Amino acid sequence: MSHQHISEQYNFETRAIHAGNTADPLTGAVVPPIYQVSTYKQDGVGGLRGGYEYSRSGNPTRTALEENLAALEGGRRGLAFASGLAAEDCLLRTLLSPGDHVVIPNDAYGGTFRLFAKVVSRWGVEWSVADTSDPAAVRAAITPRTKAIWVETPSNPLLGITDIAGLAGIARAAGVKLVVDNTFASPYLQQPLALGADVVVHSTTKYMGGHSDVVGGALVVADTELGEELAFHQNAMGAIAGPFDAWLVLRGIKTLAVRMDRHSENATRIAEMLERHPRVSKVLYPGLPDHPGHEVAAKQMKAFGGMISFLVGEGGEKEAVAVCDRAELFTLGESLGGVESLIEHPGLMTHASVAGSALEVPANLVRLSVGIESADDLMADLKQALG
Ligand SMILES: *Cc1c(COP(=O)(O)O)cnc(C)c1O
Repeated sequence: MSHQHISEQYNFETRAIHAGNTADPLTGAVVPPIYQVSTYKQDGVGGLRGGYEYSRSGNPTRTALEENLAALEGGRRGLAFASGLAAEDCLLRTLLSPGDHVVIPNDAYGGTFRLFAKVVSRWGVEWSVADTSDPAAVRAAITPRTKAIWVETPSNPLLGITDIAGLAGIARAAGVKLVVDNTFASPYLQQPLALGADVVVHSTTKYMGGHSDVVGGALVVADTELGEELAFHQNAMGAIAGPFDAWLVLRGIKTLAVRMDRHSENATRIAEMLERHPRVSKVLYPGLPDHPGHEVAAKQMKAFGGMISFLVGEGGEKEAVAVCDRAELFTLGESLGGVESLIEHPGLMTHASVAGSALEVPANLVRLSVGIESADDLMADLKQALG
Protein backbone atom coordinates (compact mmCIF):
# COMPACT_ATOMS: atom_id res chain seq x y z
CA MET A 1 0.00 0.00 0.00
CA SER A 2 1.51 3.33 -0.95
CA HIS A 3 1.04 6.31 1.37
CA GLN A 4 -0.75 8.24 -1.35
CA HIS A 5 -3.22 5.39 -1.64
CA ILE A 6 -3.78 5.38 2.11
CA SER A 7 -4.47 9.08 2.36
CA GLU A 8 -6.89 9.15 -0.54
CA GLN A 9 -8.70 5.88 -0.16
CA TYR A 10 -9.40 5.43 3.53
CA ASN A 11 -11.26 7.08 6.37
CA PHE A 12 -9.51 8.88 9.22
CA GLU A 13 -9.42 5.96 11.67
CA THR A 14 -7.74 3.77 9.05
CA ARG A 15 -5.25 6.44 8.02
CA ALA A 16 -4.33 7.07 11.67
CA ILE A 17 -3.19 3.46 11.99
CA HIS A 18 -1.72 2.80 8.55
CA ALA A 19 -0.39 6.02 6.98
CA GLY A 20 3.40 6.05 7.23
CA ASN A 21 3.33 2.67 8.96
CA THR A 22 4.52 0.44 6.13
CA ALA A 23 6.03 -2.85 7.29
CA ASP A 24 9.80 -2.66 7.84
CA PRO A 25 11.39 -3.82 4.54
CA LEU A 26 14.16 -5.74 6.33
CA THR A 27 12.17 -7.75 8.87
CA GLY A 28 8.49 -7.21 8.14
CA ALA A 29 7.98 -5.64 11.59
CA VAL A 30 4.45 -4.20 11.48
CA VAL A 31 5.43 -1.17 13.57
CA PRO A 32 8.17 1.13 12.28
CA PRO A 33 11.36 0.42 14.27
CA ILE A 34 12.96 3.16 16.35
CA TYR A 35 15.89 4.01 14.10
CA GLN A 36 18.10 5.23 16.96
CA VAL A 37 20.93 6.23 14.67
CA SER A 38 22.73 9.42 13.70
CA THR A 39 24.35 8.46 10.39
CA TYR A 40 24.02 5.97 7.53
CA LYS A 41 26.61 3.91 5.63
CA GLN A 42 27.00 5.09 2.07
CA ASP A 43 27.72 2.69 -0.80
CA GLY A 44 30.44 4.80 -2.34
CA VAL A 45 30.53 8.59 -2.09
CA GLY A 46 27.00 9.93 -2.51
CA GLY A 47 25.50 6.44 -2.77
CA LEU A 48 22.63 6.61 -0.28
CA ARG A 49 20.79 3.31 0.26
CA GLY A 50 17.49 4.57 1.60
CA GLY A 51 17.81 8.28 0.89
CA TYR A 52 19.12 8.97 4.41
CA GLU A 53 22.52 10.51 5.17
CA TYR A 54 22.28 12.10 8.64
CA SER A 55 19.41 12.02 11.15
CA ARG A 56 18.95 15.76 11.50
CA SER A 57 18.17 15.86 7.77
CA GLY A 58 16.06 12.72 7.86
CA ASN A 59 15.37 9.61 9.93
CA PRO A 60 13.04 6.75 8.93
CA THR A 61 11.07 6.79 12.20
CA ARG A 62 10.51 10.53 11.86
CA THR A 63 9.56 10.06 8.19
CA ALA A 64 6.89 7.55 9.25
CA LEU A 65 5.41 10.13 11.63
CA GLU A 66 5.69 12.97 9.12
CA GLU A 67 3.85 10.97 6.44
CA ASN A 68 1.20 10.03 8.98
CA LEU A 69 0.71 13.67 10.07
CA ALA A 70 0.35 14.82 6.46
CA ALA A 71 -2.26 12.11 5.80
CA LEU A 72 -4.28 12.97 8.92
CA GLU A 73 -4.43 16.71 8.21
CA GLY A 74 -4.94 16.19 4.49
CA GLY A 75 -1.73 18.10 3.73
CA ARG A 76 1.08 17.69 1.22
CA ARG A 77 3.84 17.69 3.81
CA GLY A 78 4.21 17.01 7.52
CA LEU A 79 7.22 17.95 9.62
CA ALA A 80 7.96 16.74 13.15
CA PHE A 81 9.81 18.84 15.72
CA ALA A 82 11.24 18.57 19.22
CA SER A 83 8.31 20.56 20.68
CA GLY A 84 5.30 22.60 19.62
CA LEU A 85 7.25 25.79 20.20
CA ALA A 86 10.16 24.51 18.08
CA ALA A 87 7.63 23.97 15.27
CA GLU A 88 6.25 27.49 15.75
CA ASP A 89 9.76 29.00 15.78
CA CYS A 90 10.67 27.21 12.54
CA LEU A 91 7.44 28.38 10.91
CA LEU A 92 7.89 32.01 11.97
CA ARG A 93 11.49 32.18 10.81
CA THR A 94 10.53 30.59 7.48
CA LEU A 95 7.60 32.92 6.82
CA LEU A 96 8.83 36.22 8.27
CA SER A 97 11.53 38.83 7.80
CA PRO A 98 12.24 42.04 9.76
CA GLY A 99 9.43 44.55 9.24
CA ASP A 100 6.77 41.89 8.69
CA HIS A 101 3.64 41.85 10.82
CA VAL A 102 1.46 39.06 12.22
CA VAL A 103 -2.06 39.22 13.65
CA ILE A 104 -2.20 37.03 16.76
CA PRO A 105 -5.25 36.02 18.81
CA ASN A 106 -6.21 37.76 22.06
CA ASP A 107 -6.49 34.30 23.59
CA ALA A 108 -3.40 32.30 22.70
CA TYR A 109 -1.30 29.64 24.35
CA GLY A 110 0.97 31.53 26.77
CA GLY A 111 4.14 30.15 25.19
CA THR A 112 3.04 31.27 21.73
CA PHE A 113 2.45 34.78 23.04
CA ARG A 114 5.85 34.76 24.78
CA LEU A 115 7.53 33.65 21.53
CA PHE A 116 6.06 36.68 19.75
CA ALA A 117 6.48 39.17 22.60
CA LYS A 118 9.93 38.22 23.86
CA VAL A 119 11.74 36.43 21.04
CA VAL A 120 10.46 37.13 17.53
CA SER A 121 9.87 40.84 18.19
CA ARG A 122 13.60 41.25 18.97
CA TRP A 123 14.27 40.33 15.35
CA GLY A 124 12.08 43.13 14.05
CA VAL A 125 8.86 41.21 13.52
CA GLU A 126 5.77 43.11 14.58
CA TRP A 127 2.51 41.73 15.88
CA SER A 128 -0.82 42.96 17.05
CA VAL A 129 -3.58 41.29 18.98
CA ALA A 130 -7.12 40.76 17.65
CA ASP A 131 -10.20 38.86 18.72
CA THR A 132 -10.05 36.25 15.96
CA SER A 133 -13.63 35.14 16.66
CA ASP A 134 -14.64 38.50 15.15
CA PRO A 135 -13.84 38.62 11.40
CA ALA A 136 -14.20 42.42 11.31
CA ALA A 137 -11.58 42.79 14.07
CA VAL A 138 -9.16 40.60 12.13
CA ARG A 139 -9.74 42.53 8.89
CA ALA A 140 -9.10 45.78 10.75
CA ALA A 141 -5.83 44.47 12.23
CA ILE A 142 -4.32 43.61 8.83
CA THR A 143 -1.71 46.13 7.62
CA PRO A 144 0.20 46.31 4.32
CA ARG A 145 3.05 44.52 6.12
CA THR A 146 0.95 41.65 7.47
CA LYS A 147 2.23 38.25 6.37
CA ALA A 148 0.18 35.92 8.52
CA ILE A 149 -2.91 35.55 10.69
CA TRP A 150 -2.43 33.21 13.63
CA VAL A 151 -5.45 31.38 15.02
CA GLU A 152 -6.09 28.93 17.82
CA THR A 153 -9.51 27.25 17.83
CA PRO A 154 -10.70 26.16 20.30
CA SER A 155 -8.43 28.61 22.09
CA ASN A 156 -6.39 28.19 25.22
CA PRO A 157 -7.58 28.69 27.93
CA LEU A 158 -10.89 30.48 27.16
CA LEU A 159 -12.18 27.96 24.59
CA GLY A 160 -13.03 30.69 22.09
CA ILE A 161 -14.03 29.56 18.60
CA THR A 162 -12.80 31.10 15.36
CA ASP A 163 -14.49 30.46 12.02
CA ILE A 164 -11.59 28.99 10.04
CA ALA A 165 -13.29 29.07 6.63
CA GLY A 166 -14.36 32.67 7.24
CA LEU A 167 -10.84 33.82 8.14
CA ALA A 168 -9.39 31.82 5.24
CA GLY A 169 -11.43 34.02 2.91
CA ILE A 170 -10.13 37.18 4.59
CA ALA A 171 -6.54 35.88 4.51
CA ARG A 172 -6.77 34.94 0.83
CA ALA A 173 -8.21 38.33 -0.11
CA ALA A 174 -5.37 40.08 1.77
CA GLY A 175 -2.69 37.77 0.36
CA VAL A 176 -1.57 36.57 3.78
CA LYS A 177 -1.12 33.09 5.23
CA LEU A 178 -3.63 31.63 7.67
CA VAL A 179 -1.94 29.57 10.40
CA VAL A 180 -4.13 27.42 12.67
CA ASP A 181 -2.89 25.90 15.92
CA ASN A 182 -4.98 22.71 15.90
CA THR A 183 -3.64 21.32 19.18
CA PHE A 184 -6.93 21.47 21.12
CA ALA A 185 -9.04 19.82 18.42
CA SER A 186 -6.61 17.35 16.82
CA PRO A 187 -7.14 16.41 13.16
CA TYR A 188 -9.79 13.88 14.17
CA LEU A 189 -12.13 16.67 15.24
CA GLN A 190 -11.09 19.42 12.84
CA GLN A 191 -9.04 19.70 9.64
CA PRO A 192 -8.08 23.33 9.01
CA LEU A 193 -6.40 22.78 5.62
CA ALA A 194 -9.69 21.51 4.18
CA LEU A 195 -11.29 24.75 5.46
CA GLY A 196 -8.75 26.89 3.61
CA ALA A 197 -5.90 27.36 6.13
CA ASP A 198 -2.31 27.32 4.82
CA VAL A 199 -0.48 25.85 7.80
CA VAL A 200 -1.51 23.65 10.72
CA VAL A 201 0.54 23.77 13.93
CA HIS A 202 0.48 21.09 16.63
CA SER A 203 1.91 20.53 20.01
CA THR A 204 1.97 16.74 19.60
CA THR A 205 2.74 16.70 23.33
CA LYS A 206 -1.01 16.94 23.84
CA TYR A 207 -3.74 14.86 22.14
CA MET A 208 -1.59 13.42 19.34
CA GLY A 209 0.83 11.79 21.80
CA GLY A 210 -2.05 11.42 24.22
CA HIS A 211 -0.24 9.74 27.12
CA SER A 212 1.70 12.58 28.79
CA ASP A 213 4.98 10.85 27.98
CA VAL A 214 6.52 12.88 25.16
CA VAL A 215 7.11 16.50 24.11
CA GLY A 216 6.81 17.16 20.38
CA GLY A 217 5.52 19.49 17.71
CA ALA A 218 4.42 19.40 14.10
CA LEU A 219 3.64 21.50 11.06
CA VAL A 220 1.48 20.37 8.16
CA VAL A 221 1.07 22.40 4.98
CA ALA A 222 -1.11 22.23 1.91
CA ASP A 223 1.47 23.72 -0.43
CA THR A 224 4.41 21.63 -1.66
CA GLU A 225 6.69 24.64 -2.12
CA LEU A 226 6.10 25.94 1.41
CA GLY A 227 6.67 22.38 2.59
CA GLU A 228 10.10 22.40 0.92
CA GLU A 229 11.00 25.76 2.50
CA LEU A 230 9.96 24.50 5.92
CA ALA A 231 11.95 21.29 5.47
CA PHE A 232 15.00 23.37 4.56
CA HIS A 233 14.60 25.46 7.72
CA GLN A 234 13.85 22.40 9.86
CA ASN A 235 17.21 20.95 8.80
CA ALA A 236 19.03 24.30 8.92
CA MET A 237 17.72 25.15 12.41
CA GLY A 238 17.80 21.60 13.73
CA ALA A 239 14.97 21.31 16.29
CA ILE A 240 13.83 17.94 14.94
CA ALA A 241 11.86 15.22 16.72
CA GLY A 242 14.21 12.44 17.82
CA PRO A 243 13.46 8.85 16.73
CA PHE A 244 12.04 7.66 20.06
CA ASP A 245 9.87 10.76 20.45
CA ALA A 246 8.61 10.36 16.88
CA TRP A 247 7.82 6.72 17.60
CA LEU A 248 5.87 7.59 20.76
CA VAL A 249 3.74 10.15 18.91
CA LEU A 250 3.10 7.70 16.06
CA ARG A 251 2.05 5.10 18.64
CA GLY A 252 -0.28 7.58 20.35
CA ILE A 253 -1.95 8.57 17.08
CA LYS A 254 -3.17 5.01 16.47
CA THR A 255 -5.79 5.46 19.21
CA LEU A 256 -6.48 9.16 18.55
CA ALA A 257 -9.98 8.63 17.13
CA VAL A 258 -11.26 6.48 20.00
CA ARG A 259 -9.61 8.71 22.59
CA MET A 260 -11.08 11.91 21.14
CA ASP A 261 -14.56 10.38 21.08
CA ARG A 262 -14.29 9.51 24.78
CA HIS A 263 -12.64 12.85 25.72
CA SER A 264 -15.54 14.64 24.01
CA GLU A 265 -18.26 12.48 25.61
CA ASN A 266 -16.79 12.86 29.09
CA ALA A 267 -16.27 16.61 28.68
CA THR A 268 -19.86 17.11 27.50
CA ARG A 269 -21.25 15.37 30.58
CA ILE A 270 -18.92 17.29 32.90
CA ALA A 271 -19.69 20.66 31.27
CA GLU A 272 -23.43 20.03 31.74
CA MET A 273 -22.87 19.08 35.39
CA LEU A 274 -20.74 22.20 36.01
CA GLU A 275 -23.34 24.41 34.40
CA ARG A 276 -25.88 23.28 37.02
CA HIS A 277 -23.44 23.65 39.95
CA PRO A 278 -24.19 26.59 42.29
CA ARG A 279 -20.50 27.44 42.88
CA VAL A 280 -19.73 27.70 39.17
CA SER A 281 -20.58 31.09 37.69
CA LYS A 282 -19.70 30.31 34.06
CA VAL A 283 -18.70 27.28 31.98
CA LEU A 284 -16.67 27.73 28.81
CA TYR A 285 -17.19 24.70 26.56
CA PRO A 286 -18.02 24.99 22.84
CA GLY A 287 -20.37 22.02 23.09
CA LEU A 288 -22.80 23.97 25.25
CA PRO A 289 -25.59 25.55 23.15
CA ASP A 290 -25.16 28.93 24.90
CA HIS A 291 -21.44 29.16 24.06
CA PRO A 292 -21.01 32.08 21.61
CA GLY A 293 -18.99 29.91 19.23
CA HIS A 294 -21.26 26.87 19.44
CA GLU A 295 -22.69 27.11 15.93
CA VAL A 296 -19.34 27.67 14.26
CA ALA A 297 -17.80 24.85 16.31
CA ALA A 298 -20.65 22.51 15.33
CA LYS A 299 -20.01 23.39 11.68
CA GLN A 300 -16.23 22.90 11.67
CA MET A 301 -15.67 20.25 14.35
CA LYS A 302 -16.78 16.61 14.53
CA ALA A 303 -17.22 16.87 18.33
CA PHE A 304 -16.24 19.48 20.91
CA GLY A 305 -13.12 18.00 22.49
CA GLY A 306 -11.91 17.41 26.01
CA MET A 307 -11.02 20.90 27.26
CA ILE A 308 -13.30 22.86 29.61
CA SER A 309 -12.68 26.08 31.50
CA PHE A 310 -14.94 27.51 34.18
CA LEU A 311 -15.20 30.43 36.55
CA VAL A 312 -15.53 29.74 40.25
CA GLY A 313 -17.78 31.90 42.43
CA GLU A 314 -17.60 35.65 42.18
CA GLY A 315 -14.12 36.34 40.86
CA GLY A 316 -11.68 35.46 43.63
CA GLU A 317 -8.38 33.75 42.90
CA LYS A 318 -8.40 32.02 46.30
CA GLU A 319 -11.60 30.08 45.62
CA ALA A 320 -10.36 28.85 42.23
CA VAL A 321 -7.00 27.82 43.68
CA ALA A 322 -8.79 25.94 46.48
CA VAL A 323 -10.81 23.93 43.94
CA CYS A 324 -7.59 22.95 42.13
CA ASP A 325 -5.96 21.96 45.42
CA ARG A 326 -8.92 19.85 46.60
CA ALA A 327 -9.20 17.81 43.39
CA GLU A 328 -7.89 14.27 43.80
CA LEU A 329 -8.60 12.28 40.65
CA PHE A 330 -7.96 15.36 38.51
CA THR A 331 -4.19 15.76 38.84
CA LEU A 332 -2.99 19.30 39.45
CA GLY A 333 -0.66 19.96 36.57
CA GLU A 334 0.09 21.90 33.40
CA SER A 335 -0.28 20.42 29.92
CA LEU A 336 -3.35 18.63 28.53
CA GLY A 337 -4.57 16.00 26.12
CA GLY A 338 -3.46 12.88 27.99
CA VAL A 339 -5.65 9.94 28.98
CA GLU A 340 -5.55 11.14 32.60
CA SER A 341 -7.56 14.16 33.70
CA LEU A 342 -5.72 17.32 34.73
CA ILE A 343 -6.80 20.49 36.50
CA GLU A 344 -4.96 23.81 36.68
CA HIS A 345 -5.22 27.51 37.45
CA PRO A 346 -4.21 29.28 34.18
CA GLY A 347 -3.61 32.67 35.82
CA LEU A 348 -0.89 31.29 38.10
CA MET A 349 0.29 28.35 35.99
CA THR A 350 0.13 27.95 32.18
CA HIS A 351 -0.74 31.59 31.50
CA ALA A 352 1.39 33.33 34.12
CA SER A 353 3.51 34.72 31.25
CA VAL A 354 0.57 36.74 29.86
CA ALA A 355 -0.21 38.56 33.15
CA GLY A 356 -0.57 42.27 32.56
CA SER A 357 -0.95 41.84 28.77
CA ALA A 358 -4.00 41.91 26.50
CA LEU A 359 -4.13 38.16 27.00
CA GLU A 360 -4.53 38.19 30.78
CA VAL A 361 -7.05 35.59 32.02
CA PRO A 362 -9.63 35.88 34.84
CA ALA A 363 -8.29 35.20 38.35
CA ASN A 364 -11.12 32.74 39.12
CA LEU A 365 -10.58 30.65 35.98
CA VAL A 366 -9.99 26.91 36.29
CA ARG A 367 -9.04 24.77 33.28
CA LEU A 368 -9.74 21.06 32.94
CA SER A 369 -8.23 18.58 30.56
CA VAL A 370 -10.87 15.87 30.79
CA GLY A 371 -9.33 12.42 30.42
CA ILE A 372 -10.86 9.11 29.43
CA GLU A 373 -11.50 7.73 32.91
CA SER A 374 -15.08 7.02 34.09
CA ALA A 375 -17.10 10.22 33.74
CA ASP A 376 -18.98 9.32 36.93
CA ASP A 377 -15.74 9.18 38.92
CA LEU A 378 -14.57 12.47 37.40
CA MET A 379 -17.85 14.23 38.22
CA ALA A 380 -17.78 12.95 41.80
CA ASP A 381 -14.26 14.34 42.21
CA LEU A 382 -15.21 17.76 40.84
CA LYS A 383 -18.26 17.93 43.10
CA GLN A 384 -16.14 17.27 46.18
CA ALA A 385 -13.47 19.73 44.98
CA LEU A 386 -16.12 22.45 44.51
CA GLY A 387 -17.34 21.73 48.06
C1 LIG B 1 1.31 23.16 24.55
C2 LIG B 1 0.88 24.02 23.46
C3 LIG B 1 1.81 24.61 22.58
C4 LIG B 1 3.30 24.46 22.76
O1 LIG B 1 3.73 23.15 22.59
P1 LIG B 1 4.98 22.49 23.36
O2 LIG B 1 4.96 21.10 22.86
O3 LIG B 1 4.73 22.62 24.82
O4 LIG B 1 6.19 23.26 22.95
C5 LIG B 1 1.31 25.36 21.54
N1 LIG B 1 -0.01 25.57 21.37
C6 LIG B 1 -0.92 25.03 22.19
C7 LIG B 1 -2.37 25.29 21.95
C8 LIG B 1 -0.52 24.26 23.27
O5 LIG B 1 -1.43 23.75 24.09
